[in-house]
Amino acid sequence: MVWNMNQKTYSKTFIDEEKIQDLLKKTGEPDDKEVDKVIEKAMLLKGLDLEDVSVLLNIKKPAQLDRLFDAALNIKNLIYGNRLVLFAPLYVSNYCTNNCLYCGFRRDNVDMYRKCLSVDDIKEETRLILEEGHKRILMLMGEEAGECDFDYFLKTIDAAYSVKDSKGNSIRRINIEIAPLTDEEFKKVSKVKIGTYTVFQETYHQETYKKMHPSGRKSDYSWRLYCMDRALKNGLNDVGIGALFGLYDYRFEVMALIMHAQYLDATFGVGPHTISIPRIEHAQNAPAAENIPFPVSDADFKKLVAVIRCAVPYTGMILSTRESPQMRKEVFNMGVSQISAGSKTSPGGYKDAIINPEAEEQFSLNDTRSPGEVITSVIKQGFTPSFCTGCYRLGRVGADFMELAKPGLIKLHCLPNALTTLKEYLVDYADEATKKAGDDLIEKELNDIPDEKRREKTKEFLKRIEDGERDLYF
Ligand code: SAM
Ligand code: SF4
Repeated sequence: MVWNMNQKTYSKTFIDEEKIQDLLKKTGEPDDKEVDKVIEKAMLLKGLDLEDVSVLLNIKKPAQLDRLFDAALNIKNLIYGNRLVLFAPLYVSNYCTNNCLYCGFRRDNVDMYRKCLSVDDIKEETRLILEEGHKRILMLMGEEAGECDFDYFLKTIDAAYSVKDSKGNSIRRINIEIAPLTDEEFKKVSKVKIGTYTVFQETYHQETYKKMHPSGRKSDYSWRLYCMDRALKNGLNDVGIGALFGLYDYRFEVMALIMHAQYLDATFGVGPHTISIPRIEHAQNAPAAENIPFPVSDADFKKLVAVIRCAVPYTGMILSTRESPQMRKEVFNMGVSQISAGSKTSPGGYKDAIINPEAEEQFSLNDTRSPGEVITSVIKQGFTPSFCTGCYRLGRVGADFMELAKPGLIKLHCLPNALTTLKEYLVDYADEATKKAGDDLIEKELNDIPDEKRREKTKEFLKRIEDGERDLYF
């Protein structure tokens, strides 16, 4: 039991709501000296404590915000360089036994056209995603219902890995985002090849959580909150957390996300691999998406991204196509490390056959550009699109990955891998203009590889890719 509606009581978890509310209130609007002190601390790349996070979240003055954005950009450049890792979501099913008030897949949405993809459908979706140049997918589904259960989901993972596209390429890393699992199920997942397991808590505020999740297994706050504990105890290495912004005060959610990250780090010796930052979008027959309880303005959204980057510098941050191209462009500068591109949020969405998207998709998207268009614009903005999956495939996961995420090492592994995977994309999928822009970028970025041997080896790999070899990585 967590939140008992009748008795109006909370049960204690590691999310200390009182502490968060007190800190946010106590901090008030900070003066310049307080802000500068926290920003100086953030620049040490050791992360921030909750008091510091509260200071940054309470910033209102434009000049202070500018300093925060500069710090986030500097931290991002120091740790991640200018890489942005790309992926595409693949929805297996839109059946769901839950009733989340913000989601089009909710059980009570009788207008949703329900589908559970067959293994052949999954293969076709995967092939279409591959033909756009992706190497990394995120597989999702509603909470298991009918034949689309957990064991079936495991089968679809194998099916997706088995596909080759017209260039002979396959998916190299599958991340998953499915409802919290039991210990036994996590044990089974740890035996299949997956990268990160992600679940968003949606809201860390218990009372709001209860209202938003009126029925189904998801109505149990603790079952969801402690799913990462079960995952890490049962053999998974990398987990991703997130909050759905708009359900409750964004400042509370950011403080809670950092609390969650600190808790995982203290308990398991490794924090979350990623933090996702979705904002609520329109969804069919979803009251909380039509009437968003705590809408987050664009200005506050930018602030919260920058604060997370300062608070947990080594944790990846994922930005989806929920955001518009313009907003994505702006927050790429604030510490985002992974982005989706060309996404569809309905099962079977990569095929052309969809007649009424609203009746099949989970929520609407604001960035509907093709992956090619996104990649071209990312290159123009001076970022390096990366399709790298090297760390996971070489076992650089969990705490080992965090160790690696130190600035110097990133340049040794991640930058060369970004360049070789971008080269593959340019040779196999890009149009002439993108190819030219991409090749120019690679030429320039090669100079940034500090180690001469590694630089020469990268050049050799690039040449071999041009000559037809694939999947060369460090
Ligand atoms: N059904 C599983 C679950 O809820 O854990 C898997 C994840 S669900 C397919 C993906 C995520 O979409 C949810 O966790 C939720 O945060 C997000 N989502 C749902 N409705 C949304 C909306 N209207 N706008 C933006 N994101 C939404
Ligand atoms: Fe189902 Fe997930 Fe949508 Fe909730 S968010 S209704 S659990 S698919």
